[in-house]
Amino acid sequence: MRITVVGSGYVGLVAGACFADLGHGVVVVDNDHRKLIALRNGEVPIHEKFLPDLLSRYCGHRLTFAEDLKEAVRQSAAIFVAVGTPPTESGEADLSYVESVAREISGGIDSYKVIVEKSTVPVYTSDWIRKIILRNGTDPALVDVASNPEFLREGTAVTDFLFPDRIVIGCDGERPAAVLREIYAPMTGGSYYQRADSIPCPDRCKIPPPIIVTSTKSAELIKHASNAFLAMKISFINAVASVCESVGASVNQVVHGIGTDARIGPRFLNPGIGYGGSCFPKDIMAFRAVARECGYDFRLLDEVMRINEDQRQRFLRKVRSALWTVRGKRLGVLGLAFKGGTDDIRESPALFLVQALLQEGAKIVAYDPAAMDRAREVLGSNVTFVDSAYDAAHAADALLILTEWEEFANLDLNRLRSELKYPIVIDGRNLYDPEVMAAQGFTYFSVGRAASLPDGVPTSAVKNGKSA
Ligand code: NAD
Repeated sequence: MRITVVGSGYVGLVAGACFADLGHGVVVVDNDHRKLIALRNGEVPIHEKFLPDLLSRYCGHRLTFAEDLKEAVRQSAAIFVAVGTPPTESGEADLSYVESVAREISGGIDSYKVIVEKSTVPVYTSDWIRKIILRNGTDPALVDVASNPEFLREGTAVTDFLFPDRIVIGCDGERPAAVLREIYAPMTGGSYYQRADSIPCPDRCKIPPPIIVTSTKSAELIKHASNAFLAMKISFINAVASVCESVGASVNQVVHGIGTDARIGPRFLNPGIGYGGSCFPKDIMAFRAVARECGYDFRLLDEVMRINEDQRQRFLRKVRSALWTVRGKRLGVLGLAFKGGTDDIRESPALFLVQALLQEGAKIVAYDPAAMDRAREVLGSNVTFVDSAYDAAHAADALLILTEWEEFANLDLNRLRSELKYPIVIDGRNLYDPEVMAAQGFTYFSVGRAASLPDGVPTSAVKNGKSA
């Protein structure tokens, strides 16, 4: 099938490359000219496992890049809209990019097309897209608008796209549903997974993935409700972690105890410095705004956001209590991306903390395996960027772990200790065992677990986040 994907960001580019891998002919359209040139020249603008491989396999033949949306629409049966939906000042989703794409699409509709929302959008957006397209003179019989929310996670985006837990299709008629079923048929029918050159199957995946067909409005709500639920799970365990710190319990043990309950499950129960990224913060606010608009006061979501905010402040208090004063201290920082496996720094809690510590007068020496170029654009010369975790630790008064990159969980602790001026580690991602850190000679602070001192020093001398 011929498909257009509008937007070549984290979702659009991954979707385009994966649709090509399923065997479709794909045009990815973007209005960022420089990005298109880079893509045509074989550059990969984002850090995603397997993406360079897919782009080099299909670029130039099954997968092309264009600026002319109308022409792409003319050639395609389905048009996936994957442009940004950032928050407005009042927290609602800014749908102006979606609207301008809808307007432009209408100029290219000369035969039946399905317009598919891939962007995360509030309920009723599909009605608006249809209205805009018809308002611009399109024959109503030539267009259907469907919703196909995307659940991929940055860092594992390609695998998530091709091995999803489920595919949700929201349509209000059989005709658009049939087009979407056909697009995903290599996955739902299982043929994709039998190919020798398919992307390797991750652990715990359902093959073939089930397809869930709903009304368009339900599909729009499924995406917002999923993200809100996941953010709630994170805030819940962060709140539990705070109680653990107060009473001297271990959040690891609590997570093990509750996560083994099949009704709850262990995933997304990782205490830390709170959620970030381009989705959860904006989607929770947008869902809150949608609910308000529909007459429901969803105060639970306010609390989810408040706990998330508080988690960053708690971490800052931990840093202060470990160091006494922050001004003039040299802090090694591991991680700037909003989570491990990605170069995305949008709404990154790590970046927020670095900026707050800079304001308090700390000197920051930072390392991230993928996000330093993007972080440099925001932080500029205020931060020294280095090439390894050990360089970040070198001569530092303390080391802060802010992103859960795998390489940060496997550091040579002897070497780390010898690099640091003082062996103090403040871990916002719980990558290490407090007992191991104590045995290795570190003063170690983490989230939801008692702070530990080097072996031989009484632990009563330190209480997590309260005093050094
Ligand atoms: P992004 O900012 O990385 O990419 C958006 C792209 O759209 C950019 O390349 C931009 O140049 C392009 N664009 C904007 N206006 C355009 C126009 N008029 N014509 C053509 N191109 C245009 O955004 P993203 O992270 O890929 O997210 C896109 C959507 O998908 C958002 O609604 C987001 O909430 C949702 N989503 C994101 C993720 C994620 O992990 N990033 C996961 C699921 C859903």
